[in-house]
Amino acid sequence: MKDARSLDENRCTFTYADGRRCGMSRMEGHDLLCCHHWSRLEERDDAAKSGERIAQLVGEEVEPKGVKKALEELFRLVAQGRMPPARAMTLAYVSQLLLQALAFDLRREKVMSDIWEPYLQRLQRERLVMDLAAAGKSKGK
Ligand SMILES: [Zn+2]
Repeated sequence: MKDARSLDENRCTFTYADGRRCGMSRMEGHDLLCCHHWSRLEERDDAAKSGERIAQLVGEEVEPKGVKKALEELFRLVAQGRMPPARAMTLAYVSQLLLQALAFDLRREKVMSDIWEPYLQRLQRERLVMDLAAAGKSKGK
């Protein structure tokens, strides 16, 4: 019969937030954790790597193509069960905000090129005509 000390030495070292220690035996081949906590650690590492990959796909300069690639990768990860749902929802929401911001930029550029710049050019032409007219009047005197 094993004594309490040898049982404790074989226990998972994971400690909960309230200070309790996991009661499961350590996983075979692992020095510290039980199968459950080792699995959770692996999932967290996998999610962190996936997050880095998604950030790389979006890139430094955010463009619709990068966001689309990141969403495709996110879809794959969620479908494979390799991304926690809460994190996937957050990334999908942030992607939506990025796409809305990009669409806003495109609309602003279109308004600038289609409406505002021609308006400014017309004002400059009218002012030029008025200046020429005023110059003509002053010469005529
Ligand atoms: Zn454990």
